[in-house]
Amino acid sequence: MSFGFEQIAIAVSWLTLALAAAVIGANRGSSFLVWFAAGLFLGPLGVVLAFWEGRSCKSCRKLIPEKARKCPYCQTEAPFEEG
Ligand SMILES: [Zn+2]
Repeated sequence: MSFGFEQIAIAVSWLTLALAAAVIGANRGSSFLVWFAAGLFLGPLGVVLAFWEGRSCKSCRKLIPEKARKCPYCQTEAPFEEG
């Protein structure tokens, strides 16, 4: 069995998706490697999940890490709505 152009193109786009999930996850304050693995296993779904990982600040609406005590953008304390 040999790799044709199509297989290589699919492999490259899959790696790109994994990298995108990793970068998004890292930006959300999560682990780059965990999301790279998630992207490798889940492909596009990994990217979507990485987007969901964060929550929006109640003040500025920017996505920030789930565990953040303070918004890194507008400095609001306890930036998540209760409940
Ligand atoms: Zn904010």
